[in-house]
Amino acid sequence: MTATDALAHYRGKRDFSKTAEPRGGRTGRTEQPAFVVQIHDASTTHFDFRLEVDGVLKSWAIPKGPSSDPHDKRLAMPTEDHPLEYAEFEGVIAEGEYGGGTVIVWDEGTYRNLTSDKHGHETPFAEALDRGHASFWLDGTKLHGGYALTRIRTVKDEGREAWLLVKQADRHASSHGAPAPTRARSALTGRTLKRVAAEATAKGS
Ligand code: MN
Repeated sequence: MTATDALAHYRGKRDFSKTAEPRGGRTGRTEQPAFVVQIHDASTTHFDFRLEVDGVLKSWAIPKGPSSDPHDKRLAMPTEDHPLEYAEFEGVIAEGEYGGGTVIVWDEGTYRNLTSDKHGHETPFAEALDRGHASFWLDGTKLHGGYALTRIRTVKDEGREAWLLVKQADRHASSHGAPAPTRARSALTGRTLKRVAAEATAKGS
């Protein structure tokens, strides 16, 4: 599947004359793949965790956000693939539009695939996700070290897929959970959700 086909679901949900979210079109990079964690103050405030895979951002909504404590198992619900440009999206999605609410980029950076088979050979990341388990090393401005995503429920089981995001035990593990979304600051601009919303209102958007 090409990245363009993969974004059909994303584009189908949005009216790009009414939202400043990117339509997408940039193709994959050759350097380290990107990751981004956005805080999305929609009908319920949640974190959106996204990993660049084959030219799109594979995405999960994480109600409580990522934790650097290996004891925390954070529920991660898959959402539609997003365009690579979404990693820089920060702003307000108009009320009434899909995902209406304020978005900040809480963390961003690159990741490395740590998934391997029993012989120690690296498993391609897309294949690891298809199989339901992927581990990776994050180099972000806030998140660092090894994490794993594991599918715990398939569509066949309960109608909706569910995953867990768990910190691996390494030197970057700590007892810190994610911050309260209201106090969290953008990794790009230092702004809080409230600030981004206020600036959008001031601009009349
Ligand atoms: Mn979201």
